[in-house]
Amino acid sequence: MPPLTSFTLQTIGIVHSCYKEKFGIPRQPGLVTEATARLELIPPYNRLDTLDGIDGFSHIWIQFIFHACISESWKAKIRPPRLGGKTKMGVFATRATHRPNPIGLSVVKIGRIYQENKKVFIDLHGADLLDGTPVLDIKPYLPYADNIANAKDGFAPPPVKTQIKPVVFSDLAKTQCEHYQNLHNRDIATLIRQVIEQDPRPSYLSEQLDREHGITLWELNVKWCARNDHFEILRIEQ
Ligand code: SAM
Repeated sequence: MPPLTSFTLQTIGIVHSCYKEKFGIPRQPGLVTEATARLELIPPYNRLDTLDGIDGFSHIWIQFIFHACISESWKAKIRPPRLGGKTKMGVFATRATHRPNPIGLSVVKIGRIYQENKKVFIDLHGADLLDGTPVLDIKPYLPYADNIANAKDGFAPPPVKTQIKPVVFSDLAKTQCEHYQNLHNRDIATLIRQVIEQDPRPSYLSEQLDREHGITLWELNVKWCARNDHFEILRIEQ
């Protein structure tokens, strides 16, 4: 029998996430614990019985399509942001979005599983997924097999906490966050802090200070800039 060289997959669900654009999404899940999303199972998979037993697990693997870069081509060697965009690595040695098959893999914490208006949802915590991400599969995270003690981490060791610059809110931004939290019951200040702490600037801008950037979280456009020894949240626009 000839080898199978192509295969059609189906979307089983769609992610509704606080990240409305690629800019600002952390490089991996779990870095921004305040990020919330919900995964909606779509027909014919919108059945609670497909999830029987999942409540015994704290985390799941999500396999998904990098749908926002599906039309862009892949390259054999790419420049991982972890190396400051200066060194090239083989695409299969990275978690880059541009790959021959644009499939992503994220482990996320699960929250409530529920049905609402005949739709089935799983709440996700700490995801690194863009709003609208199509999901191909869900699998439980198995600590005995998936957590490998002493695994080597190549050129991507864990981020060093002491290198993280503090995030300071202007008085205006502080007031705007409080107002938003009262209205929506979301800890938006923590979400903003955790996102900006990751320094989402592309590497070619990482030396630039005082330049205004904008990041869309939920329906908010958060304006911020890098100062010498901290990040400053300037204001929030709706
Ligand atoms: N954890 C996943 C993995 O390892 O396959 C994703 C890692 S990738 C380096 C993380 C980036 O994917 C994020 O910074 C975000 O910009 C991008 N991303 C997330 N969801 C996406 C989507 N649906 N389409 C395109 N890019 C996406």
